[in-house]
Amino acid sequence: MVVDTVRCVGCHACVISCFMENDVPEGYTRDWITEVVTGEYPNLKSTIYSERCNHCDDAPCVTVCPTGASHYDEETGTVQVDPNKCTGCKACITACPYDARFVHPDGYVSKCTLCEHRLKEGETTACAATCPTKAITVGDLDDPASEIHEVMNGRRIETLKPGAGTKPRVFYLT
Ligand code: SF4
Ligand code: SF4
Repeated sequence: MVVDTVRCVGCHACVISCFMENDVPEGYTRDWITEVVTGEYPNLKSTIYSERCNHCDDAPCVTVCPTGASHYDEETGTVQVDPNKCTGCKACITACPYDARFVHPDGYVSKCTLCEHRLKEGETTACAATCPTKAITVGDLDDPASEIHEVMNGRRIETLKPGAGTKPRVFYLT
């Protein structure tokens, strides 16, 4: 996933669409908006972007999970949680540097799935489909024809907390 911080206006449409698409329980969220203000008054700069699980390539949540509930999905290249295997021990919540997970009221750990059910049908995520400024793009970096290459071309690309060593796969264009 690529999030263009220049295009994002913080309207929360992505957050609302995720609630509706994924039946997220009240009081919880799988994605959220972050605003970072830098500089010194009066020369301030505000950067707004949409955040979620980074579907890390080297995910500590997968490594620490004692039951195998947290796992990589080979088909979509995403990080998923199998509710039937999850005991709710919260080891993954502690291990995640991005605070991306929560305990669902039904007792298992939940988070962004990158709408894997939609990806498997050839559709994009609900957040990407809803974003009115087209700030979110989902694609396959291994596919030269994927739109994601065009979106990233010539842009400065950052990831969140690269020092955590998790190899995040949500990329931010600044
Ligand atoms: Fe930003 Fe798009 Fe989410 Fe709105 S829907 S907050 S513009 S990413
Ligand atoms: Fe796991 Fe957190 Fe990375 Fe998501 S962001 S894959 S929950 S470590």
